[in-house]
Amino acid sequence: MSQNINGAEGTYSQVIAIDGPSGSGKSTIAKELASALNVLYIDTVAMFRALGFYADQKHIVLEEGPSLNEFLNSLTIDYGVSPTCLIKVNGIDLTEKIREHHVSKLASIISQLPSVRTYLLNFQRDLALNKVCVMEGRDIGTVVFPNSFSKFFITASVDIRAERRLKQLRESGDTSLTLEQIKDDVRKRDETDMNRVVAPLKKAEDAMLLDTSHLAMGDIINILSNEVKFRAAHLGFKLGSN
Ligand code: C5P
Repeated sequence: MSQNINGAEGTYSQVIAIDGPSGSGKSTIAKELASALNVLYIDTVAMFRALGFYADQKHIVLEEGPSLNEFLNSLTIDYGVSPTCLIKVNGIDLTEKIREHHVSKLASIISQLPSVRTYLLNFQRDLALNKVCVMEGRDIGTVVFPNSFSKFFITASVDIRAERRLKQLRESGDTSLTLEQIKDDVRKRDETDMNRVVAPLKKAEDAMLLDTSHLAMGDIINILSNEVKFRAAHLGFKLGSN
């Protein structure tokens, strides 16, 4: 677990939790917020994408059982290796691979398996040990760090999220999908993420909800960093002290 802060209302973890659906802008927000606060940024989506991709390469049958456990026990994940290497699985750098569009589907499938979630939950908790960090994902404020001192749930309309995804794909030279196909993908992914049995995507009761559909990035970062600073000051601890 991350280092705890003892406040008047209870004990909190120093993780700033950012959750929300695909394309809500949460990755950019989490990265910029971490940089504005001078704390570490941890991207858990990259972990699910890397495991989804790696398991697919190894033709692992994605169902609970001894062979999945054996697969998980055989893994070594290195996260945040260098400025150019975000993630390695069993020594293989998957930083570029995991950004490919089709990997999102593999991540979505593997992320529904309880033993995979438990494996990554422990990994994520270990990574945040004794650190102040911004951790981005789907279940950070609800499951991984339910006692996080500062939680946000970032969202945007399906239309806006699909347009953002299309722009990202076009920028990376991928012209294989139309806006309608992406919208369809976004809706299906929401449906799967929100209805899975383990750790479904949902807003933690104590998270601040932010719809980014019509907000400028600078304004969003101001709102979030002010809120984090306010919460930290209220609990009496210093940010940026990694
Ligand atoms: O954002 P993106 O669509 O690439 O995410 C891939 C998948 O990884 C999603 O389906 C999401 O549910 C899953 N995921 C998760 N928990 C996290 C991060 C990602 O289940 N903490």
